[in-house]
Formats: sequence, C-alpha cells, structure tokens
Amino acid sequence: MSRLDIVAFDADDTLWHNLIHFEAAEKAFGQMFSGFVPAEEATKAIMETEKRNIALYGFGVKSFTLSMIETAITLTDGKVEAPVIGRLIAMGRDMLDHEIELLPHVEDTLKALHKDFKLLLITKGDLLHQERKVLASGLAHYFEGVEVVSDKKPATYEKICARYGGHAASTLMAGNSLKSDVMPMIHAGGFGVYVPFSIAWDFEHEHVPEGTPRYFEVEDLRGVVDVARRLSTTA
Ligand SMILES: [Mg+2]
Repeated sequence: MSRLDIVAFDADDTLWHNLIHFEAAEKAFGQMFSGFVPAEEATKAIMETEKRNIALYGFGVKSFTLSMIETAITLTDGKVEAPVIGRLIAMGRDMLDHEIELLPHVEDTLKALHKDFKLLLITKGDLLHQERKVLASGLAHYFEGVEVVSDKKPATYEKICARYGGHAASTLMAGNSLKSDVMPMIHAGGFGVYVPFSIAWDFEHEHVPEGTPRYFEVEDLRGVVDVARRLSTTA
C-alpha cells in the first residue's frame, strides 16, 4: 500500500474560528429587523437566504452580505432604508476584517507534521479574504500550497493532489466538515480525518456511513499527527 505524502487541512473552523462571526452577524441581523418580525424569525430568514444563494454566490462573507441585503428587502417589504443597508454592508466589512483566532493545538500540529509531509491548505470562500487570513494567521510558511476552491468535490481533491505531485491515495485530509473535507477525499481514494468543531453548521452535516474505509475521527487537531504517522508507517 501507499505511503502518506500529503496532509491537507481545511481552514475555517479547523485551524481558526469562522462560524462564530457568521453566527454573531445572523443574531445581530435578527435584532436589527425585530421591528418587522420576531428576531428569531429574521435570523432564520437570513440563514435560509444564505443557504439558497450558495449555489449562485458561493461561500464567504461577500455572499453573506448580499444575502443580508436581500433578506432585509424581503422582510421589510421593500421599505428598508439606505442607512440600514449601509449598516449591513458595514457588518460584512467587519467580518472581513476580524482578527484571526487560532483553534487549540494548530501550530504544534503543523510543526510536528511539516518536516515529514507536504502540507496543503484547502479552503472554500472568498479568494482574497482567505488569502489574507492565511497571511494573518502566521501559518503560511508551514504550507507547500494554499488552494481556495469554490467547492470541495472528489475531483477537486484529485486535481489538487496531482498539482502537488501526489495522489489522493497517499493523501490525508483533515477538517471539521464531513461533507466537504472528509467524505469527498475518501471518495477520491484518499484518507479523511474528521476534527469536530463544537458548533456544527447544519448545511455541512453529513452522516458517516458505518464501516467507511480510510476514515478517522479525532478529538482535536493533535490526533491528526497520530493518524498521519500511523498511515505513513503502515506498509
Ligand atoms: Mg471548515
């Protein structure tokens, strides 16, 4: 069997916080429009618009901002005023500008792996925003490559592995989403390790079929080091 060459990581909510910013904005949005509908209803409405628009706009803060504006227009029956739209745009800008908060054990994990494996970062979202987050994280030097993709399908992973001189069969992908990070890599013939994040985004939720080969689950990022070492020594 193949040795392990590449260890790839998801970024948002695997290496650093992301969801907390969306959740805070969704809540704030609810409050802003609580004069029209109950706050929880407005929050639910923005989340639904966001999901509906993903196919057209993709993931990320800019899409989310457009979805907030769209939802504001709907909830107010077209009566939303320009200063309110301005506040929504400002909320989006703040989200693009927030500090990077690394999740526990990130640096130790990358440090332990980067000498023995080619490390890649594979993330969805706004190209510019994700590139800025990687730079601001101070972790860029651990990665051989950073790939910002519009979607994470088995073919996406196959192509990226090939671009870095590898194969899915000798690649381990670590991430907090079974649907985007773990399962497509396994379907591409690689290995996937699920690193759960405390708040699960329901859009990303997917059941792991029992007895899935090449699937691993760890408590936190430190476990990825053990999985990678175990795979690389299994002949
Ligand atoms: Mg993620």
